[in-house]
Amino acid sequence: HKAKIARGNHLPAKTSDGAVIHIMGNIELPEEVVSVKNYGGDGIGLYRTEFQYLSRSDFPSEDELSDKYRDVIEVMAPNPVTIRTLDINGDKAISRHPDSLEPNPALGLRGIRYCLKKPDVFRIQLRAILRAAAGFDNVRILFPMVSGEEEILEAKVILNEVADSLEKEGFNLSRNIKIGVMIEVPSAVIMADTISKEVDFLSIGTNDLIQYTLAIDRGNKEVAHLYQPLHPAIIRMLKRVSDAARENDVKVFMCGQMAGDPVYLPILLGLGIRELSMSPLGIPTIKHVIRQLKFEDTERFAESVLRQTTAEAIMKLLKDTYGDIL
Ligand code: PEP
Ligand code: MG
Repeated sequence: HKAKIARGNHLPAKTSDGAVIHIMGNIELPEEVVSVKNYGGDGIGLYRTEFQYLSRSDFPSEDELSDKYRDVIEVMAPNPVTIRTLDINGDKAISRHPDSLEPNPALGLRGIRYCLKKPDVFRIQLRAILRAAAGFDNVRILFPMVSGEEEILEAKVILNEVADSLEKEGFNLSRNIKIGVMIEVPSAVIMADTISKEVDFLSIGTNDLIQYTLAIDRGNKEVAHLYQPLHPAIIRMLKRVSDAARENDVKVFMCGQMAGDPVYLPILLGLGIRELSMSPLGIPTIKHVIRQLKFEDTERFAESVLRQTTAEAIMKLLKDTYGDIL
């Protein structure tokens, strides 16, 4: 069975009725781009910058970062590479950094908040990304932990300033860079329609979205049984984001762990999420299961899922309907 799945690595993830789903890899280090390719990924849906900042006492230089980005962009071209700006603190703390001593780091200075408070650190990343992207048209920039419109506007002002100054310095920048935000804070779900007007794409980060919506620490074993991706509140949020994206003509992706578990596929496809990003190892199985689904059925299935009122009822519906393939 495993061999059959592996042979299908490089076939497209196309449902039996022809809907193509883009399956991407999440990476932390540039070397991992090779496994995304080997396992049949269609691009990089999440390249986490923070791993260039962890386990060291200083910050990487602009040149160093730019090299780490370009290594991935070059190997993956022409397929997309989604580079997320620094998301530290929260579950990934910079060692020996005073900010890592916050009493409540998940609610503290992390993600885009950190970068907007330390614009010099932010500028270095943006310069590094824009320089690495020069000459390529497959790069997307993704901002983490956005809670609403203001942070996006502020980030875009800095991005434009950085682009202007690089051009003055003589760099020939790519004109085709897409800008997106993570949807992982509940307020961003509520504001998804407004946010969509400011960006080219949304990427749902279920790891944090579930944590903040259900008030369950994503890393705390004591409450792990309450960390429920199928909680009806989460499913309704996914629906809301997907609808807002469609109405405003922006793309909606998912890069949290929910995207890499086949059991959720009928729901995600049915809600209109057409790009999923996951750890490279998970790609072959996800592609294999997608080829056994019929898109039209998943749309109808998602409607009945939305009528359920507990995670348990949704799981039962999944098993009753798709038990033989999941
Ligand atoms: C998420 O929150 O779902 C996500 C993909 O980002 P991270 O796991 O890096 O917080
Ligand atoms: Mg996150």
